[in-house]
Amino acid sequence: MPGVVAYTFDDGPAEHNDQLLAILKKKNVKATFFVLGRMIALNDQQAGALKKILADGHQLASHTYSHGDLSNMTEAEMQKEMSTTSDIMFTHSGIRPRYMRAPYGSCGEPCLKVMADLGLTVSHWNVDTNDWQYKDEANPLVATNKSMAEINSKIVANSDPKQDSFIVLQHELEKFSVEHLTDTVIDAVLKAGYRFVTMEECIGVPAYLPGSIVPTTTAATSAGSATNIPTAATTTTLRATQTPNQSSAVATTSRLWTVLSSVVFVFVALL
Ligand SMILES: [Zn+2]
Repeated sequence: MPGVVAYTFDDGPAEHNDQLLAILKKKNVKATFFVLGRMIALNDQQAGALKKILADGHQLASHTYSHGDLSNMTEAEMQKEMSTTSDIMFTHSGIRPRYMRAPYGSCGEPCLKVMADLGLTVSHWNVDTNDWQYKDEANPLVATNKSMAEINSKIVANSDPKQDSFIVLQHELEKFSVEHLTDTVIDAVLKAGYRFVTMEECIGVPAYLPGSIVPTTTAATSAGSATNIPTAATTTTLRATQTPNQSSAVATTSRLWTVLSSVVFVFVALL
């Protein structure tokens, strides 16, 4: 779908999550959180973040349990990374994520096969803030400017919202990134003519696996004025309301998916 930016936050839930949610709410931006099982297991505050994320209409997705490199794991180890994370996410939020992002973007053929067998959608990115690289920069504004480099070159200077769309990668671990970069990214992306969407809306594949209990607030936010649509499976309703007709939705989805798949494969080839 052209004209959209999926804003994604990796490696949480972390200590600044409440602050991040407040900024996104103030700006009325929906994002996608690729969370780690081990971060959820760390303490009650971080486990509690999952429900808050969903209540604000954001999407939850998996970033594995340990943040290890999947390409160095056996099939059984990869399956355990995903199932343990899915279980802990279900325990604390009622959902089982369909979207996953491999740490370091590292998911070769064996990994892609495991993820496909588990019914998961492997998610890459095409704009990186590289915010983690600037965490030791003393001045948060300098760190923010450096983190804006790819957004400025790829989205602000060289794109057309009539035909382009982007998936932006950021992390929620660094204080400057939450406090300064988030606002800056949102303002730049909106000014460039894009609107923010979740990964579900960007790719067109439902966010959660069957058996998930999706909060009504999320459905209401995504579905918009869908109250006149007869009862249907939540995911069907969501998708049906996103575009005027299903065939164009499917076509757009498959085109985007082809592009994203090639991004994944190109990236893997580069490793
Ligand atoms: Zn990560």
